[in-house]
Amino acid sequence: MSVLKQRPILVVGLGPAGAAVANFLARLGLEVIAIDRSAESQLSTRLRIGESLPPDAKHLLKQLDVWQTFKAANHQKCYGNQAYWHTDKPTFHDFVQHPVGHGWHIDRAAFEQMLRDKAKSVGVAVHSNTSIGEMVRDGDVWQVELKSDDLCSNPREFSFVIDATGRQSWVARKLGIERLYEAEQLALVAFLQTSQDLKDSTSLVETVENGWWYSAQIPNGRVATAFMFAPSKQQQTVSSSVENWRSLLSQSQHTAERLGLVEGKCEFVLLAPPKIVAADSGILQQVCGKGWLAVGDAAMTYDPIASHGLMMSMVSARDAAGAINGLIDGRDDTLGMYAQRMCQSFMQYCELRRGFYGV
Ligand SMILES: Cc1cc2nc3c(=O)[nH]c(=O)nc-3n(C[C@H](O)[C@H](O)[C@H](O)COP(=O)(O)OP(=O)(O)OC[C@H]3O[C@@H](n4cnc5c(N)ncnc54)[C@H](O)[C@@H]3O)c2cc1C
Repeated sequence: MSVLKQRPILVVGLGPAGAAVANFLARLGLEVIAIDRSAESQLSTRLRIGESLPPDAKHLLKQLDVWQTFKAANHQKCYGNQAYWHTDKPTFHDFVQHPVGHGWHIDRAAFEQMLRDKAKSVGVAVHSNTSIGEMVRDGDVWQVELKSDDLCSNPREFSFVIDATGRQSWVARKLGIERLYEAEQLALVAFLQTSQDLKDSTSLVETVENGWWYSAQIPNGRVATAFMFAPSKQQQTVSSSVENWRSLLSQSQHTAERLGLVEGKCEFVLLAPPKIVAADSGILQQVCGKGWLAVGDAAMTYDPIASHGLMMSMVSARDAAGAINGLIDGRDDTLGMYAQRMCQSFMQYCELRRGFYGV
């Protein structure tokens, strides 16, 4: 029997990438333990930026066996994107030409919950409020200290560890692997409750003097907004205060207009104080190694202009499960192929990004 089948696989992080890879692995008949440092109540209610899913997501959601559940949920249909990118004339990318006809602006918390529920239903042992301590590789086995109230036998043995901790790449960093940055960027994120839905369902992007705005209608009368900026240029002037957020918003034209800010009236309330989050592009120096690999943002991050982080998380989860399955079948090249595919995707993305920013 393959050593990979003799002990469970540990997935660290239960965002979209972690829940997806756990699901794929469990459906291959492998024993999977998946942990997240957040408490269950946080996981199911947290407000997180990243809601645009393109029409192509349908295929992956089917592969994850969640398509019917996804379709029945309260996600908002999105018929395209519009951009005022260094011009006053909008460009439209209309999804109507796509066979699926539309993408989605998802209820992110509900989407993640759906992926975790699916992982549980196929046999993944899910532990929230749990993080990892010491991690040592002993021959073909990882000895990992799990820190939580309900997992007391420590350290535990695992055959393989998957880093799905998002852009902090917690496991990879523990192994001493650095991240290479293509571009540094921050985002000032705010979620609004509006009295009525926006007039159109598109994602809107708009450049302003020192950055760009993104806004999208999301379910339950909410709107997600983010102001993207380069830290080196703006660090002194962007803060997460409501006054600063409002002042930056008023420097936009189409975004402010869309939100009803221009006439002096305010047609929304902030659901939480604005927050500054990382929105850089980068990739790990090494996305996998003996007995471990990274998926989703832990492996690499895209600029939000690509609107591709969720898709990449699920695609990398599927490819990672395929690579592990290949190892079990006795092929020793599958991790190398996984790494190659990830690097190629990142390089293609960098080309696209440079085209957008003209750098
Ligand atoms: C401003 C902005 C806008 C975006 N917009 C879009 C968009 O419109 N469409 C799109 O597709 N993508 C978008 N993205 C990107 C998208 O949100 C990410 O690509 C996606 O969240 C990656 O999923 P993940 O599972 O890899 O990581 P995450 O969602 O970050 O999940 C990581 C999980 O790991 C857990 N964790 C972290 N550290 C530990 C630890 N030490 N131990 C245990 N658990 C841990 C966390 O609690 C979390 O649950 C956007 C990103 C930004 C910054």
